[in-house]
Amino acid sequence: MTQTLLLTDPLFLRHEPGPEHPERPARLESVLNLLEKEPIHGTERKAARPATEEELAATHTPRLREYLKGLRGRHDVIDPDTMTSPDSYDAAVLAAGASVQAVEEVMAGRARNAFVLARPPGHHATPDQAMGFCLFNNVAIAAEAARRQGAERVLILDWDVHHGNGTQAAFWTRRDVLYMSSHQYPYYPGTGAPHEVGEGLGAGYTVNCGLPEGATDADHGALYHDLFVPVAEAFRPDLVLVSAGFDAHREDPIGGMVLTERGFGAMCTAMRDLADRMCGGKLVLLLEGGYSLEGLSRSVHACVEVMAGEMKDNFPDGVSREAAAALQLSREALKKHWSVLGR
Ligand SMILES: [Zn+2]
Repeated sequence: MTQTLLLTDPLFLRHEPGPEHPERPARLESVLNLLEKEPIHGTERKAARPATEEELAATHTPRLREYLKGLRGRHDVIDPDTMTSPDSYDAAVLAAGASVQAVEEVMAGRARNAFVLARPPGHHATPDQAMGFCLFNNVAIAAEAARRQGAERVLILDWDVHHGNGTQAAFWTRRDVLYMSSHQYPYYPGTGAPHEVGEGLGAGYTVNCGLPEGATDADHGALYHDLFVPVAEAFRPDLVLVSAGFDAHREDPIGGMVLTERGFGAMCTAMRDLADRMCGGKLVLLLEGGYSLEGLSRSVHACVEVMAGEMKDNFPDGVSREAAAALQLSREALKKHWSVLGR
């Protein structure tokens, strides 16, 4: 069995939203270059395959799929943040397919875990709307594939600095997919308040913790210890998916948090250990944001080291008062749904 599968493809470098756009091909190039320069034992690279119409349709409406298909071969503007180049549609279909493929490899036991090194990212794309640099919602499509592959409960943890509004919308009324997000709040795209916990059957199965600007590794440590890990354990996932954005890094020009690569390593360690305890180590990371080439490539490298079993990172102590207060708001909003959070 492969320990850590890395799924990527040269086509991901041909999605070009424009010379001034932060979500640029150089991001993925910097990640791949560092993995080449400092290889990690236990990893194996594999080319991606495109998603089928059926796989896309599990998450996205016919209207959105037709609209995006119409952008194939063209430079176009979806919204002020989101542009396409002639290869963007094919890259997006391949990114979605790589995400499904990663789930298939891990669910079938051919790889212990996997990291999808793709772009464009996905977590802002709602079932009916491409937005925020995202065309298709890769992690939502991956979660649906996992359900078809026999996973009864799928956890999606989203540590991108932005709230994954699209993923939240996709699973808002469902209890088979638990969506948990840490993000800067208030911030783009505006969603992710602590009282947003899901509705109907899905009440309690959306977990949001909006952290203040300047949130640290230690602040995230408190969040994992006191909220994310206890709720995830009570949920008992059959697969752990991570929307792995790295724009909460302290060098990131967009996000306002101050995480380090060790902090990302610690978050990845927490998810690796959770997957080990709950579901035989089944863990898939999918690249979302991250706009400092150095911060991004170093942090991805740290996560791959953790996934391949070469490293374990722990959170430092010392949560700030502001982060502790934000965490308390989320615990309060969720404790009637999760007895593990206390009364
Ligand atoms: Zn982001």
